[in-house]
Amino acid sequence: MNHQPKKKFGQNFLRDKNLLQKIVRESYIDNQHVIEIGPGQGALTSFLAEKAKSVTAYEIDESLKPILSELESKYPNLKVIYGDFLELELKNDQEYHVVANIPYNITSLILFKILESKNIKTSSIMIQKEVADRLLAKPGTKDYNALSILLQIEAKAFKMVDVKRQMFYPIPNVDSVVIRIEKFSKPIISEELMPFLRKMVKEAFRQKRKTLVNNWHEAYHIEKKDLIDFLIEQGIDPYARAESLSIDTFLKLREVWPYDC
Ligand code: SAH
Repeated sequence: MNHQPKKKFGQNFLRDKNLLQKIVRESYIDNQHVIEIGPGQGALTSFLAEKAKSVTAYEIDESLKPILSELESKYPNLKVIYGDFLELELKNDQEYHVVANIPYNITSLILFKILESKNIKTSSIMIQKEVADRLLAKPGTKDYNALSILLQIEAKAFKMVDVKRQMFYPIPNVDSVVIRIEKFSKPIISEELMPFLRKMVKEAFRQKRKTLVNNWHEAYHIEKKDLIDFLIEQGIDPYARAESLSIDTFLKLREVWPYDC
């Protein structure tokens, strides 16, 4: 079956069997329920279906149907759902584990969705190397951003394996890394407060070059003067940028935040 890779869907297909097997082995999916985002031509999918109890794969490109339907007949535990992973409501009937070589242009949105989906417990995800460096960055470094904070609040995240660009077809112009995200079984912050914290963190980084005061003033419609007083009271420089705040500082601010939401 001939399929021309489509750039607009971020299609770079994997072809190295050893790498695919390593990813599957180190994702510990034996007898588990797996979600795959973007199965493509099914390179990873068949290895997943051989081990997992079930695989639900979300694919946006319907022209891959002939190839994927064949796999579905071969593996009764595989179900392909056609549509945009970002738009689709995920089943939340049981625990899921994500294993995916994703389209890089929507990496952050996919990661936010994974973090916000309670039923997803672990993820092994192929991402661009530079993005992985940012995600795993420490506070105070220039790479540190909203996603690194939210990720590190909710999960243990580490690098599984480096992947050279030559392992894909067509060859992309970046190298990659598979990262492993294991959500903490006991969250650092209560579930009810998480949406508020997410908003605070995302808004703090909305415009990276702006100060905390300016970003939060716009997001929450709080008087600048009040916000400055509040931050100074908490021992925080109101003219600092979000990237200089530690994770603990965000958590502490969330606890004493006097404004709505
Ligand atoms: N996992 C395959 C393909 C990776 S390429 C492999 O490793 O070979 C990325 C895949 O994601 C493509 O199949 C692309 O069509 C699909 N995709 C792109 N955007 C998507 C979206 N929003 N939702 C679901 N799948 C998407």
